[in-house]
Amino acid sequence: MSVVGIVPAGGSGERLGADRPKAFVVCAGRPLIDWSLEVLESVCDRVVVAAPADWLREGWVEGGPSRSRSVRNALAAAPEARTFVVHDAARPLVTRELVEECVGALLGVDGAIAAAPVTDTVKESYPDGTVLRTLDRSRLWAVQTPQVFRAEALRRALDVDDDALAGATDDASLVEAAGGTIRLVEAPVENFKVTTAADLARAEAALC
Ligand code: C5P
Repeated sequence: MSVVGIVPAGGSGERLGADRPKAFVVCAGRPLIDWSLEVLESVCDRVVVAAPADWLREGWVEGGPSRSRSVRNALAAAPEARTFVVHDAARPLVTRELVEECVGALLGVDGAIAAAPVTDTVKESYPDGTVLRTLDRSRLWAVQTPQVFRAEALRRALDVDDDALAGATDDASLVEAAGGTIRLVEAPVENFKVTTAADLARAEAALC
């Protein structure tokens, strides 16, 4: 049973405003991606990273124009995988325990994904900013990575055109669209995604 980690790190990270792609910005003394890599490498048989062309290390693959294209490029480099563990380079506070919990939750489903219960009230709006409706918070989850999948289910789900890939903000939504079943694994809010400079400072404080 080969478990292969996939780290999409092909984004430019424009919202961070750094001089390099987000995954390679230094955070608590090392490139942001290295925090996630260390955890994934401790759980998976091997890890494939999708990175921008100028930032490739040995064995990595080039990222694509969208996050899901980057994931698909990495999948293609791991035909032996039976299970994929997808984790964003932008979540450096992931723990080995959380990855193992997601892998363990894969029994009987196509995917098991880290998610935190939503604590804010969430409203859906019209394009002009007026409220369409208020959603039932007790059933809402903020989805994170790691997202763990049966390899065949993920390969099939990502075998769609570029528009469908570009419109997906996570991999589980593509598996759902292909008819797959996904289980939520409750994750700590500390596993947040670094998007802005303030997030980077928060991650640095937590990792030091
Ligand atoms: O932009 P966002 O923070 O949602 O990106 C999530 C992850 O997807 C990041 O680790 C980023 O590097 C990766 N990504 C990618 N290829 C892209 C865009 C984003 O691998 N074209």
